[in-house]
Amino acid sequence: MAPPQPNVLIVEDEPAQREVLAYNLEAEGYRVTRAENGEEALILVEEDTPDLIVLDWMLPSVSGIEICRQLKTRSETRGLPIIMLSARSEEVDRVRGLETGADDYVIKPYSVVELMARVRLQLRRTRPSTVGERLEFDDIVLDSESHKVFRGESLVKLGPTEFRLLSTFMEKPGRVWSREQLLDRVWGRDIYVDTRTVDVHIGRLRKALCANGGEDPVRTVRGAGYALG
Ligand code: CA
Repeated sequence: MAPPQPNVLIVEDEPAQREVLAYNLEAEGYRVTRAENGEEALILVEEDTPDLIVLDWMLPSVSGIEICRQLKTRSETRGLPIIMLSARSEEVDRVRGLETGADDYVIKPYSVVELMARVRLQLRRTRPSTVGERLEFDDIVLDSESHKVFRGESLVKLGPTEFRLLSTFMEKPGRVWSREQLLDRVWGRDIYVDTRTVDVHIGRLRKALCANGGEDPVRTVRGAGYALG
């Protein structure tokens, strides 16, 4: 199984621009979802919340500004990073002035290298384990670039699924994840896996983390799921 790749939603009505964006994002290893307009984007966000949205300002009917504002007012999508694309710098100034809550703005025509850097920057903040960051929690260190985990001085041997489980936990220590959320994040929505499978892999993760002693850092939350710490 491949590592959990961030899902990027592209909202752009011009097919050529949409495809160029999709091509470049896919080349960087991201999963890409496409929307041609704002209404479609809102439905897609509801169905499968992406990790980041690249949102064009000029869209038919509902503008990018309006989409951005709607997503930033909902508690479920407030933390979702949005990069707005705009044709001219004066537009960007206007968009900024409208306080849409967009996390970043890129002016068209943009350099692909710059846009990819901005995407990475946003994901480093929200999905650090997917962009080669080193994560730490207590005496556990996870290096997502080398795919290695240490507890204290010892190397922790993990299978790919356990590694992804731990990455998910370490991105948000203390957060309680339901089994369904873990299935979505670690296994992916397209694969049917029984929720009991999650328990099996949590068991393996615990065993591996405690192989050289130390307390079990994974917490079972009755009726809710699991959390780290
Ligand atoms: Ca457009």
